[in-house]
Amino acid sequence: SSPADAILSARGLTKEFLGFRAVSDVDLDVREGTIHALIGPNGAGKTTVFNLLTKFLTPSSGTIFFRGDDITGVKPADVARLGLVRSFQISAVFPHLTVLDNVRVALQRKAGLDTQFWRSNRVLDRLDDEANRLIDAVGLSAFAGHDAAELPYGRKRALEIATTLALDPPVLLFDEPMAGMGVEDIGRISDLIRRIAKGRTVLMVEHNLSVVADLCDRVTVLARGEILAEGDYDTVSSDKRVREAYMGS
Ligand code: ADP
Repeated sequence: SSPADAILSARGLTKEFLGFRAVSDVDLDVREGTIHALIGPNGAGKTTVFNLLTKFLTPSSGTIFFRGDDITGVKPADVARLGLVRSFQISAVFPHLTVLDNVRVALQRKAGLDTQFWRSNRVLDRLDDEANRLIDAVGLSAFAGHDAAELPYGRKRALEIATTLALDPPVLLFDEPMAGMGVEDIGRISDLIRRIAKGRTVLMVEHNLSVVADLCDRVTVLARGEILAEGDYDTVSSDKRVREAYMGS
């Protein structure tokens, strides 16, 4: 069974693609309130584990628990409703809407406001206050009136995070949040993730090991579909088997 402080767990998680075991018998516990990284060389199975946990893929065998409940058979949309939200996929950004309108749409989705309710000015005001608060939180106040399509890459990802935050999820999952970013954006998104992780749980797949060292409380290292090591960054990065797995890749 999983520890009491685990918000998201997997037991015996296995995924085969045409007989090839991409993920093999993985046990994982993501503890509530932590920033947890999944790392490992290319082909290790990180993305597959991530897709299994967020229900984008169905496991060949194994069980997934969220807050102690078996969610193995739950659909992706229902998982998001439970509070397990994946950024950059579910939170689509509409390129021809402004930053403000993108966040408003996300907030409306969260509130499930019907049109009657929506017409009331008071609700509109509250919605705009909340939208502006989120835009400020991700550092996009100066861009509020810009179309999403006009934003530089790192800012677009910040907007995606804002639309994810609009759902106020207790658990946020990021698949390589820093991919394709320059140093400046990496610093900015790292700060942002650190701030939004307060009072939340974050699980991320991340290639950039200095980001992992800087940001993550706990690290799980995968190699060839299996867990190679787990612990804080210093512990796993000094593990001989982990070093060998990275050198062999
Ligand atoms: P990582 O994210 O660590 O680079 P992946 O989870 O993407 O690793 O892939 C793990 C292994 O599973 C790789 O060998 C990959 O080729 C294989 N794989 C992933 N998805 C599929 C798929 N849909 N069909 C067949 N093989 C796949």
